[in-house]
Amino acid sequence: MTARSIHEPGRDLPIRGEYDVVVLGGGPAGIAAAASAAALGRKTLMVERYGFLGGMGTAAGVTGFCGLHANVHGEHRQVVHGIVDELLARIDRLGGLNKPHVAFGKIQAQAYDTAAYKCAADDLLLGHKAEILFHALGAGVVMDNDDTIRALIVETKSGRAAVIGRIFIDCSGDGDLAAWAGAPFERGDGHGGMLYPTMMFRLNGVDPAAAGEAWTTIPALMDEAEVRGVKFPRKGAIVRPQKNPIEWRVNVTQMKKPDGSAIDGIDADELSAGEVEGRRQVMQFFEFLKREAPGFANAYVVDTPPQLGIRETRRVTGSYALSGDDVLTCASFPDTVGVNGWPIEAHNAGNVEWKWPPIPQSRGFCHLPYRMILPQKVSNLLVAGRCASMTHEGQSAARVSGPCFVMGQAAASAAHLALAGNSALADISVEALQGLLEKNGAYLGRDIN
Ligand SMILES: Cc1cc2nc3c(=O)[nH]c(=O)nc-3n(C[C@H](O)[C@H](O)[C@H](O)COP(=O)(O)OP(=O)(O)OC[C@H]3O[C@@H](n4cnc5c(N)ncnc54)[C@H](O)[C@@H]3O)c2cc1C
Repeated sequence: MTARSIHEPGRDLPIRGEYDVVVLGGGPAGIAAAASAAALGRKTLMVERYGFLGGMGTAAGVTGFCGLHANVHGEHRQVVHGIVDELLARIDRLGGLNKPHVAFGKIQAQAYDTAAYKCAADDLLLGHKAEILFHALGAGVVMDNDDTIRALIVETKSGRAAVIGRIFIDCSGDGDLAAWAGAPFERGDGHGGMLYPTMMFRLNGVDPAAAGEAWTTIPALMDEAEVRGVKFPRKGAIVRPQKNPIEWRVNVTQMKKPDGSAIDGIDADELSAGEVEGRRQVMQFFEFLKREAPGFANAYVVDTPPQLGIRETRRVTGSYALSGDDVLTCASFPDTVGVNGWPIEAHNAGNVEWKWPPIPQSRGFCHLPYRMILPQKVSNLLVAGRCASMTHEGQSAARVSGPCFVMGQAAASAAHLALAGNSALADISVEALQGLLEKNGAYLGRDIN
């Protein structure tokens, strides 16, 4: 019989460094967390498995910021501020930031060029004197006792090593660090269903004049083609121009298992199958666009991203979980650390379902409470980004870039206050946290009901 496991002998590891704050994962949450912690004077290390920052925003080819804006009583406003403004200014200086566009007639989003985002994020972190360790896969933790993390274990080309930290911020998107440390987490909608992943792709050589506002006409072309028997992975295609109007991004594929449920973004075999299937769907949809969409006949696929786009895996349980109702009712919380104006964007089987707060009757955003980034059981850990404490429906909204930047800056600021006051993360003064965030440019949404 084949053995099911093999014993790996224990060994001593070199210590790569000792830090006040260790951030795992360089997506929007991690960028904001590491840059903010370093800007506050904390010795900070960013650990990222790829050779660049941006998370899904670059590694999965997302190329657009959602959730920086809200529709506030009918007026489009940028409602996420603070460290993200420094990032946006840098992307803009590199010529890589589009003007915001209005999506669905209701809310603004803002496209960017991936190369500019990567460079701007490097510059932001290094400018604030954060250290970056690229090509380092977080692989486990060493605990001091049941509730305190002593070190993050990383696998690198130079070998396996330990990074000692006083406070750790899990911005891995998947809650990897929190799970290793034993923090409780949830997955999916309670019936095993998670938001479906998408393989993004970008086209070049589009004729912008002929394509026109193709994002409004392509869904109807797909409906007509379906009547003729053409099959698509999902409805709700998002096909939009980048800053250079001959370049377009396409968000339409959907990866499922043979039983129809979503590919699991923390299962290596399912991820492998999803990458291959994603690229297959890319080429299939591209053939449809070339054949049937005006302006796309001479286009070509200029890029499929380094990885499949994962929307949801673990959500680490805090003392509060942001819910779909909170998003739809524009909820207020006394411990607000910033806001989310993005609606519920649920990538369900074969479709994308949108649910909005009342527009323009409402202020269009909910508060994000400190409690959603404060996990249970592990005392020196914060969790920011798409793996923070939210229900499945709440996460369908507050997983996008804007609120992830908010959570990252809030986590770094909380870490700074806990270290400064030698207090537990759960015991810091919320007023002090809010004051520090506002001093550093963050918008907490307390002025509008
Ligand atoms: C297809 C798709 C389209 C989307 N479209 C949009 C959009 O248009 N606009 C928008 O704002 N949002 C969009 N989103 C959502 C958004 O991109 C993500 O939810 C957001 O990037 C989450 O940010 P994060 O920092 O929490 O995590 P992520 O962006 O997932 O970043 C996590 C980072 O951690 C790293 N990491 C993970 N595990 C480890 C480990 N063990 N060791 C080392 N590093 C690790 C990863 O490499 C990554 O860099 C989209 C998402 C997908 C999948």
